[in-house]
Amino acid sequence: MTLVRASGLSKTYGRGRLRVEALREVSLSVEPGEAVALTGPSGCGKSTLLSLLGLTLPATGGELLVNGEPAPLRERRRARLRNEFFGYLHQEFAIVESDRVLANVTIPLEYARPRLNRRQRLERAGRALDSVGLGWATRRRASELSGGERQRVAIARALVNEPRLVLADEPTAALDVATAHEIVTLLLSMRRRGTSVLVATHDPRVSGRCDRILPMEDGRLAPEGVETSASSGD
Ligand code: ADP
Ligand code: ADP
Repeated sequence: MTLVRASGLSKTYGRGRLRVEALREVSLSVEPGEAVALTGPSGCGKSTLLSLLGLTLPATGGELLVNGEPAPLRERRRARLRNEFFGYLHQEFAIVESDRVLANVTIPLEYARPRLNRRQRLERAGRALDSVGLGWATRRRASELSGGERQRVAIARALVNEPRLVLADEPTAALDVATAHEIVTLLLSMRRRGTSVLVATHDPRVSGRCDRILPMEDGRLAPEGVETSASSGD
């Protein structure tokens, strides 16, 4: 089942003189277990597209199917899909610096799995941290970790609900080259569990390791995606 399918998706910000056509009739789909890179210059619409696909921003036109069904309009059902179907990863890690690492990772479970008790949540968060090599860090405060370690905490948090699709917006922009390489390896390894990744990046070292590249320009997607020569790379 195709995870997300967009047809003619558009987004306009503002009105009158402030009107910006950020997305112009974008069509794409993401299949299970693939890593897709969204590339293009700053301002071309990558973040907007990720926000529309991930149901954090409403489209102004076009159609969007999530898991084969029209994206819901009601906020309750959108929030539910956000928590259950998607994982999100950002450039700035967006973790709570003053909290312990384990507490950062249990946050999504409190929303999406209210029936789990505290012990079950902690166990699951612990497993997610193990899977990113941070089993040793559960009791640390996030502020004590390096940049790459913080991004791994953010990945564990994105994975803890076992999402079908992780939407990553420039996840390596704040990292040095070697750390960025590790983080991409970790992101791509999610494919083995059947989790797909859609990553917005302007770094060819990141996009070149994905299965497919979708180049964007001025709110549009090139009609044909580009296949990469990347093997499964992990
Ligand atoms: P990218 O992620 O490729 O840098 P964005 O999706 O952030 O591109 O931006 C696409 C266009 O939409 C840009 O012209 C940007 O200035 C504009 N834009 C983004 N967010 C907003 C907003 N909240 N209000 C108005 N314009 C916006
Ligand atoms: P980077 O160069 O990648 O930013 P750092 O020099 O910040 O890495 O950190 C190197 C190592 O030291 C990391 O493993 C990090 O967890 C640890 N560390 C950094 N600051 C602290 C701290 N205040 N308390 C405990 N460990 C720390």
